[in-house]
Amino acid sequence: MEKFRLRYAPSPTGYLHIGNTRTALMNYLFAKHYNGDFILRIEDTDIERNVDGAIDSQFDNMKWLGILPDESFRNPKKDFGKYMQSEKFEVYQNYANILLKQGKAYKCYCTSEELEKDREMQLAKGIIAPQYNRKCLSNKNNDETKPFNIRFKVPDNKLYRINDLVRGNVEFNSKEIGDFVILKSNGIATYNFAVVIDDYDMKITHVVRGEEHISNTPRQCMIYEAFGWQEPLFCHLTLIVDETKKKLSKRSGNAMFFISQYKEQGYLPEAIFNYISLLGWSPKSEQEIFSKEELIKIFDEKRFSKSPSTFDMIKMKWINSQWIKKISDDDYIKFVINFIDENKFEIKNKKDNWIRSVLLLFKKELEFASQINDHLDIFFNKKIDDKTKNILAEFNIKKDLIVFLEEELKKIVEFNEENIKTLINSIGKKFELKGRDLFMPVRIFTTLSEHGPELAKTISLIGKEQVILNINSIK
Ligand code: GLU
Repeated sequence: MEKFRLRYAPSPTGYLHIGNTRTALMNYLFAKHYNGDFILRIEDTDIERNVDGAIDSQFDNMKWLGILPDESFRNPKKDFGKYMQSEKFEVYQNYANILLKQGKAYKCYCTSEELEKDREMQLAKGIIAPQYNRKCLSNKNNDETKPFNIRFKVPDNKLYRINDLVRGNVEFNSKEIGDFVILKSNGIATYNFAVVIDDYDMKITHVVRGEEHISNTPRQCMIYEAFGWQEPLFCHLTLIVDETKKKLSKRSGNAMFFISQYKEQGYLPEAIFNYISLLGWSPKSEQEIFSKEELIKIFDEKRFSKSPSTFDMIKMKWINSQWIKKISDDDYIKFVINFIDENKFEIKNKKDNWIRSVLLLFKKELEFASQINDHLDIFFNKKIDDKTKNILAEFNIKKDLIVFLEEELKKIVEFNEENIKTLINSIGKKFELKGRDLFMPVRIFTTLSEHGPELAKTISLIGKEQVILNINSIK
């Protein structure tokens, strides 16, 4: 079997986000499942739309997620051409000249570059019908001194069929498609032309991309046909939509769009990888938590979804919380510690063991790492608030109890969870209290908070001195 070669080919017009990550990831899983190659290529011919930092954002965030290209312009192989379109201008020009010579393309003098851009844009947005772009009317006027575009001569009334992995057979009649520009008057190739040359040069076997490209595909098929090249297998993934059923974008209400946002809030790359793999693809089983290795193993190109998938922020958070629980305690500490807001919580002078024990109290609770800051107040000189004071007032607490609690806490030599637990039990017996009537007053007096993790452990970590101060601040 020939080696599968798949590629992710972003235009550097923006940063890595959920949508393009899904494309990259499906190509990656598809390639790796078959022990094939995954290639990252940069489609940067539309120079005006390129955004500074976009290429690095794509590379770095993909690396962080574990979507690692076998080839890219950072690690090129020499037999497959260049990995950035801006380095291939001459290659495209040479191929365009071959088509010119064979009469499969022609020079067109009728449009300025501006007009052409405008027309392409209107065409893309569906404002004008493709037929409008049907033919160049000026090719008789071939004044070689004037700038010209090179247009592809679209065959008349011919049926093109794509056997798409997601949509099955899709047919296009060439009469719907006008003679399209392949090389602009400034010498720069258009997307539909360059993409075919690149996929051919790179020996790409499967093209997995978003469904917005399906209407481009017949044009690309025509170029393959004109050169007599074998087409890759196409696979157009359905849309990812938000809760309002609109295409997911940076304007989609609750959902964060860019991978960097997830990274900043403390999502694990494994969890993002896991969740995105379930957008527009599903495994056979009901299982939802998968490692990258498992996904590579169970990937099945027949299981792409035929309907749009809804991005669900709640599920993303849930999967992240599952991954936070799943990683080892050591990895958890290394990960979460970086999200502590050191302006609010001075951890510099705290012992490593203490920090570790405090952070571990919340391993089962966090949905994402920066939430740790919602939990640390009780360990850093907390003051009681009015709401907690009111709750305390609801309990009919005997003065004796507070005195006993304070005195007995002071007496504990080894201020550990076990000894504190014994003390709380003895308070229950002595004052005939149990459940909430016992624990809530003790909790509020010692921690100044109505909520918190396991009480005896929390008291031990706050430390004897501070717990006594807490009691005295409200007694
Ligand atoms: N550069 C195109 C994009 O960013 C990729 C198209 C393709 O995969 O063929 O949408």
